[in-house]
Amino acid sequence: MATVQFDHVFKIYPNGYTAIKDLCLDIRDGEFLVFVGPSGCGKSTAMRMLAGLEDISAGKLSIGDQVVNDQTPQQRNIAMVFQNYALYPHMTVRQNLDFPLKMMALPRSQRQQRITDAAKKLGLEPLLNRKPKALSGGQRQRVAMGRAIVRDPSVFLMDEPLSNLDAKMRVQIRGEIAQLQRQMGTTMVYVTHDQVEAMTMGDRVAVMRLGELQQIAPPQELYENPANIFVASFIGSPEMNIIRSQLYKREDGAIAVEIADRHFDLDTAVVNRYANLHQYVDHPILVGLRPEAFYLQNSSTDNYQTSNHQPLKVTVDSVEALGHEMIVYFEAAVAKVEGEDSGQSSASDLLPDHLSNNSQTSALIARVPSAKGIRTGGLLELAIDTSKIYLFSEDGKAIAHQSSAAF
Ligand code: ADP
Repeated sequence: MATVQFDHVFKIYPNGYTAIKDLCLDIRDGEFLVFVGPSGCGKSTAMRMLAGLEDISAGKLSIGDQVVNDQTPQQRNIAMVFQNYALYPHMTVRQNLDFPLKMMALPRSQRQQRITDAAKKLGLEPLLNRKPKALSGGQRQRVAMGRAIVRDPSVFLMDEPLSNLDAKMRVQIRGEIAQLQRQMGTTMVYVTHDQVEAMTMGDRVAVMRLGELQQIAPPQELYENPANIFVASFIGSPEMNIIRSQLYKREDGAIAVEIADRHFDLDTAVVNRYANLHQYVDHPILVGLRPEAFYLQNSSTDNYQTSNHQPLKVTVDSVEALGHEMIVYFEAAVAKVEGEDSGQSSASDLLPDHLSNNSQTSALIARVPSAKGIRTGGLLELAIDTSKIYLFSEDGKAIAHQSSAAF
């Protein structure tokens, strides 16, 4: 059994800085759990406490059914793969793999068996007699993994293991690591600042900010139901546009939202998703629009009768052409909120008079299929898919969903 449990764990460094605040987290046996967040959010600290490289200031940390607060790294049977590979340059691959086994004082025959097994799993058999300097970055990474695997640890820890690799190699190795972990079924705790890595590798992803866990969920759940505007803007690239707005009720009972001086009826799917949306009517809220919620209005076929199909008429500030799609930057008459503002904005920052300030514009981002004629300085008609609107209360927290209404 190799579950991991953080139970109200704190880390306060000797200089008084609280790097981890009240972390409560259960990692399942065999799970691939990714800690993600911007630099300085505390993800390495959390991992180093798990590894036994940092003391725990308060709370309880368990691996399996053992509380490990006072155990040395050696007593924890965990294997850590570091950012720099930390291979011994004067040793061959075989000797590098053998080193941790010698430290464990295993008999020679067992050591050889474990090296053979690990080399096979990792495709290192032809490289066993090479020294690290004769290996590619990806191969060195595999040797570093091999050194962890041979010890047959109950938990694997990886701290930004891919950051030394070029983009192509990163994609390849992240696939290999994920596949390997699933093959072995060993619990994995993985740290990265890269949300794409987190989303593509983790069974679940723990999003951290300023030492606090924001949300833990499977990748798709984070994308679809972010707990707050920080998670919403951290997950997904380019990031979600979050703007100040207000909900209105129309005479026919439909709920509409204001975006750039226009009212858009919310799709019934959106209204139904939220538990108590009616209580937010006439109140300031935050609206989240992922870049993919915009689409190019085809003026020759679409009709403009309903307000929902009225496009925003915008001037293109700049365009990134990515081949099959384009990232379009434009200004709109909205007040944008940064995800980092979550929980920090004072109520006075969010007063409705911001909304009526028609002169305010913000830079927004849309992702659209490539089309001729989209160019810097050009005019564009962008419609909004109102089924893809996210709603947050003005404190930055997601408005409760139907399914979570009971909580
Ligand atoms: P991350 O891995 O998310 O980039 P870290 O866990 O390394 O972040 O650091 C979290 C915070 O704790 C940072 O603000 C960092 O400056 C601070 N920190 C890290 N180590 C120490 C230390 N030994 N003493 C004081 N503060 C530290």
